[in-house]
Amino acid sequence: MTLDTASLRVSFALVALTLVVLFYVITYRTGRSAYAAWWCASLALFLVGASAYLLAGTTHQAWANPLGNALITLGAGCVWAGSRSLRRDRHALPRWLLAFAPLVVGVMSLLGDPADDAWSGGEFFLAAMWIQLGLAGMELGVLVRGANADAHPDAYAYRRTVWALLLACCTVAAFYLGRWVAFLAVGPDRPLFTTFFGEQVTTLATTVLLATVSFSMSTLSEEQQKEALRDTAARDGLTGLLNRTAFFQLAEAARERALGDAAGGSLVMADLDHFKQLNDQYGHQAGDRALVAFADCCRSAVRSADLVARYGGEEFVILLPGADAARADEVARAISTGLARRSEPDLPLPTVSFGVAELDPALSLDEMVQRADTALYRAKTTGRDRTVHYTTEIAP
Ligand code: GH3
Ligand code: MG
Ligand code: MG
Repeated sequence: MTLDTASLRVSFALVALTLVVLFYVITYRTGRSAYAAWWCASLALFLVGASAYLLAGTTHQAWANPLGNALITLGAGCVWAGSRSLRRDRHALPRWLLAFAPLVVGVMSLLGDPADDAWSGGEFFLAAMWIQLGLAGMELGVLVRGANADAHPDAYAYRRTVWALLLACCTVAAFYLGRWVAFLAVGPDRPLFTTFFGEQVTTLATTVLLATVSFSMSTLSEEQQKEALRDTAARDGLTGLLNRTAFFQLAEAARERALGDAAGGSLVMADLDHFKQLNDQYGHQAGDRALVAFADCCRSAVRSADLVARYGGEEFVILLPGADAARADEVARAISTGLARRSEPDLPLPTVSFGVAELDPALSLDEMVQRADTALYRAKTTGRDRTVHYTTEIAP
């Protein structure tokens, strides 16, 4: 069976065009997920890049082919960025990193003999493709592993979708790696290249990737938006710390994990001293600034496994899994000194009182909060600006 290249190209272009329009109008315009945006960009780049190749064989080939190479390389970079955008622990890719590969590919294609050699710069183009698609696959691999630990209800469907995408991405990356090796070994005109890694197979492979992406689009975009909403709903608007509800949800799981590992842990309640006075004297906005400063100090004092939440008003709760009494003291001291060292213009920052309760398998989270609160009350009545640990002697 022979498939003619022209028909394949046209059907591919139609599919890609349809998808760009659908993704843009439905998924991106309605939800604006980063994932949908990156895929729109990459599809558009694949389309325009592939159209540039249509000028091959004409006098325009000298600029059209290098341009096509650079645009399609950039499209693969968008696939990478889009896959990365699904990761919650992500940092967005710096723009220069995305521009780097297309620039190298474009320049190297121009520096060859693009007027006579349709494959000028081909080794750079093929290398940039498999490397970027491979990086996209790596991002998705990390995502699949991370999703394991996640307990949200849609995790199962979500993970299967990411798996499908991971598989498609890695297949196309491996295919481009094969093309690259064959290109380096025999060049683009020999049967080994034209039969196994030529235009027809490439178009088919890319179509499979597109089909997988469209299948994944609604699930992953929606999940990304829900994630953003969940994150907003879980946080306190002023300080960005967890709110009380989210804290109790997460803390219950963390408590069970810590007890299961026999690692122990501490629960700390913190309350700013004479905060009402500060509000009365400097105004509510100044009070808000002090709360934000305190939250910053908390964030710098704890580790990533610790949970910090605004319990209400100017009271905060911190769960330190695996932390003994000494470590809890250390964290409290780090917060207090951090706050004392900070200078807010025209605003003396308050001191803080802490109450600490140690994790106990016999106690619920609520009971631990009560103990920490009892200790905190003792810290207040014995002079403030200090840390008190719960013991049976201070029990009410
Ligand atoms: P103590 O040292 O005993 O804790 O005294 P305090 O004044 O800090 O305690 P109190 O509970 O009497 O006052 C808490 C104050 O915190 C009262 C309330 O107006 C203020 N507050 C609560 N939430 C906010 C907020 O979001 N922003 C600001 N600026 N103030 C708040
Ligand atoms: Mg207070
Ligand atoms: Mg209070």
